[in-house]
Amino acid sequence: MATISLFWHRRDLRFEDNVGLAAALQAEHPVVPLFIFDPEILDKLENRQDARVTFIYDEVERLRQEAKAAGGSFLVRYGHPVQVMQQLLKELDVAAVYTNHDYEQYAATREAAVKKLLDQHSVAFHTFKDQVIFEKDELLTKGGLPYKIYGPYKRSWLARLTEQDYQASPSASHLEKLAAVKAGHHPTLQELGFERSQEPFPDRKLTQHTLEHYAATRDLPARDSTSRLGLHLRFGTVSIRKLVQRALAAHSDIWLSELIWRDFFMQLLWHFPHTATQSYDPKLRDIRWRNNEAEFQAWCAGRTGFPLIDAGMRQLNATGFMHNRVRMAAASFLIKNLLIDWRWGEAYFAEKLLDYEMASNVGNWQWVAGTGADSQPWFRVFSPDAQLAKFDKQHAYVKQWVPEFGTARYPAPIVEPAASRDRALAAYRASRERH
Ligand code: FAD
Repeated sequence: MATISLFWHRRDLRFEDNVGLAAALQAEHPVVPLFIFDPEILDKLENRQDARVTFIYDEVERLRQEAKAAGGSFLVRYGHPVQVMQQLLKELDVAAVYTNHDYEQYAATREAAVKKLLDQHSVAFHTFKDQVIFEKDELLTKGGLPYKIYGPYKRSWLARLTEQDYQASPSASHLEKLAAVKAGHHPTLQELGFERSQEPFPDRKLTQHTLEHYAATRDLPARDSTSRLGLHLRFGTVSIRKLVQRALAAHSDIWLSELIWRDFFMQLLWHFPHTATQSYDPKLRDIRWRNNEAEFQAWCAGRTGFPLIDAGMRQLNATGFMHNRVRMAAASFLIKNLLIDWRWGEAYFAEKLLDYEMASNVGNWQWVAGTGADSQPWFRVFSPDAQLAKFDKQHAYVKQWVPEFGTARYPAPIVEPAASRDRALAAYRASRERH
């Protein structure tokens, strides 16, 4: 049996410009790529037609075909990664396992368990930075501390950036090093406990038009002019380095800033993992939320009587996407006007968003709540009506998602904006005073 290396794909579902894969392919042994469907993650998903599972399933299948075309195999397994690795060490002569860094806490925990197993078998384990430009503590303040404010982080990110940071890695030009082995059983979607979702997925193309018009149109939800690459960035079906190259070449500074926000929130959650479930600002950890279940349900269903909020929630429910401007308005409405815990909203978005990314979701929810490291001031409340007047003046977006808007069938507002705003500010103030 030939000695091989495994490349463990996680959130990097591509052969092109994949740092860890390139390292594996350029090392001594032939390489067999692997993807593990992990029940710890899948079992937590409520919806048995979760579109993200279909997306991953199909992307893994695409890689399996690409590997086959290159004369190699691609292993797909269902099980706890430690048990899967244990089994693979029996089936194959594995010299090393390569993978790319995954910064979320659960990923780190399972990775540590896998590493322990590999150590016991004297199998080398190599991991690489791939999904961000700067990670962990690569960018620190002069005092050696993590950046908590985006402005200085961005300046430092731009000052530090060199061509090397966004140079493509040569993984795709070494695919002849993929090895053919007995691939074993490839689980079906049904065996994973899921059914196929019929939701369409945004394609992975970034057009020149998007880059050129982003600054002028990104805040207008009816224009649908953003890249829709969030899903692809989440699962690594596009390379962040390639996108940075494109943004720089097009001088699309604002779009580049969005990619920097992504890096920013990734490092923030890595440094402050407790903020996944706790407000960053300790003074705002004791807000007495109202958490009214019926109002929460009205928000989820897009039946609050506030057209921009309802349009956004219906877009989310129907497509797994909501425009960024509307995400901000909908989140602010839930937290401030309904005085519902930001974590309820964060969890709902996590369930529904195709582009759900823990670091970005938590970071943005805390930004809107005013409880985060870098957030808008806690006393700022978006007015749902003013946001509508400013960003969807002609109601084009609202009419698309709320066809009964303007008729007697459209619900009356469930709260009074000014009074609910004052109620929120009082609750925030009280938490600060109790601290
Ligand atoms: P574009 O506008 O074309 O931007 C390109 C990419 O930059 C995005 O795909 C994303 O990777 C990144 N990006 C853009 N804005 C932000 C931002 N504010 N923070 C971090 N990264 C950003 N983004 C997610 O990727 N996952 C989430 O779970 C998520 N949850 C959010 C929750 C709330 C309450 C809010 C207000 C924003 C959230 N965002 C999240 C940020 C932003 O809304 C989405 O990234 C963006 O709408 C995705 O659309 P797009 O791919 O067309 O992005």
